[in-house]
Amino acid sequence: MRILIVEDEKRMASFIQRGLREEGHAVDIAEDGERGWDYASVNEYDVIILDWMLPKIDGLTLCTKIREAGSRVPILMLTVRDTVEDKIRGLDRGADDYLTKPFAFDELLARLRALSRRPGQLQAETVLKAADMTLDLVSHKVIIHDEPVILSQKEYALLEFLMRRKGQVVSRSQIAEHVWDLHFDPMSNTIDVYINFLRKKIDTGRKKSRIETLRGSGYRLCET
Ligand code: CA
Repeated sequence: MRILIVEDEKRMASFIQRGLREEGHAVDIAEDGERGWDYASVNEYDVIILDWMLPKIDGLTLCTKIREAGSRVPILMLTVRDTVEDKIRGLDRGADDYLTKPFAFDELLARLRALSRRPGQLQAETVLKAADMTLDLVSHKVIIHDEPVILSQKEYALLEFLMRRKGQVVSRSQIAEHVWDLHFDPMSNTIDVYINFLRKKIDTGRKKSRIETLRGSGYRLCET
């Protein structure tokens, strides 16, 4: 997933960024509300982690701005306030969930999984399936025919992205938006390189690749 952290405490922001990167996510940091607004209005994030107390534009105001602009991106508010009224105010302004600092990193991960579930799903997905391949979102294990497949963080993130959209055509720019962060160079052939790395690992013994290339439009993960 592509995640934006809007947080002015540098140590907190880089702690979360490091942890989320280890989970294979692409993470951008905005250190104040104004920059948070800039990033959120330009990039397509899967989740925004938004601190309450921020310079320039505070978290609540930014949350309202994002909703008023029509975005439905899941927003997790971080707060040191834990009075009931504060939580209600946050949720009323369009936040989807909140987490009181300090928090356990595993709890943050569990909440992000819950926020990224598809509309209509009652429970957060913990396992994705495509044909005989399964990807466990908690343990990060990828299994094909009962055999584990060892992937790098980026290969894992790319496969997760494709599995969440199996059967659909995804463009290179969609992949770049959701799997890579702000430092991605759109002129590079990085995505094609990673698609090929991934094919080498998940196509063993198959005649046809699980990942189809659609000339001019992108890639599609086969459901069979
Ligand atoms: Ca803060």
